Amino acid sequence: MVDFVGAGPGAADLITVRGKKLIGEADCIIYAGSLVNPELLSYASGDCLIYNSAKMHLEQVLGVMEEMEAQGKNTVRLHTGDPSLYGAIREQMDALRKRGIPFRICPGVSSFCGAAAALEAEYTLPEVSQSVIITRMEGRTGVPEREKLHLLAEHGATMVLFLSGGMAGRVQEELLRGAYTEDTPCAIVYRATWQDEKVIRGTVGELCKLADENGITSTALIVVGDVLGDDYGLSRLYDRHFTTAYRKGE
Ligand code: SAH
Repeated sequence: MVDFVGAGPGAADLITVRGKKLIGEADCIIYAGSLVNPELLSYASGDCLIYNSAKMHLEQVLGVMEEMEAQGKNTVRLHTGDPSLYGAIREQMDALRKRGIPFRICPGVSSFCGAAAALEAEYTLPEVSQSVIITRMEGRTGVPEREKLHLLAEHGATMVLFLSGGMAGRVQEELLRGAYTEDTPCAIVYRATWQDEKVIRGTVGELCKLADENGITSTALIVVGDVLGDDYGLSRLYDRHFTTAYRKGE
C-alpha cells in the first residue's frame, strides 16, 4: 500500500491526525525534501526507511514503492501542503495502477490556507470576491493558452499564485493587464506557518519592488485582491433578519 499524505504547509503540527498516524505506521517514507518539514519524520518509527525525493526522479520513486510492495511493506509518499496542488501525484497514481499497487490519499492543509491564516484574511468576502483563482506564473513549466495570467486577471477575483515568487516583475505586469490596478492590495507570504514566516503587504504596483527588497525567490505565495483591503459587505448567513434552515430571522 502506498499512502500519499499531505504534510501541511510547514509547521509540523499542521499535518492531519490521520497523516501523522500513517507516518507512524510507515515502513518507508519518501518525502519531498525541498519543502516538507523534516520534523515530521520524527513521527516515524525507528526502523522506517527514509528517502528524500528532491534527489530522485520519477522512476526511482516508483522503484522504491515497488520494492516495498514486493516485501509486503507500506510506503508513505509525503507531499507538501495538499497533494492535489502542484504535487505531481497523478503520474505516480497512474504508474501504481499499472503495476497493480494499491494507494490511498490523505489530504493536507495547503499553503494557500496557511497564507490566509498568516494574513488574517478571508479570501471570499461578500460584495468583493466570491472566487479564488489558484494559479501560477508561466515558468519552465508552461500554462495552457487560455490560462495565461493576464486572462485570469480579467476577473479581478481573489488570486493566489504558487511557484511565482521569483517572477514578481512579470506577475505584476500580467496582473495590471487585467482588472487589477496599481492600488489593488496584494501580499507576499514567505514560508507560511514556518518559524521564519514573513508577511509582506503592499499593492500590485509595488509587487516587484517588494519581492526584490525582501529577497523573495521561492517558498512564497503571492496573494492579490480587494479582499486584502478594508471594504466588504456583511454575510447574509449571520444577518439577524436572514432565515436559514437552522434559524428563523427576526
Ligand atoms: N501542494 C503544495 C504546493 C506545492 S508547489 C500546497 O498545497 O501548498 C510549491 C509551491 O507552493 C512553492 O513554490 C510556493 O509557491 C508554495 N508553498 C509551499 N509551501 C509554502 C509555504 N509554507 N509558504 C508559502 N508558499 C508555500
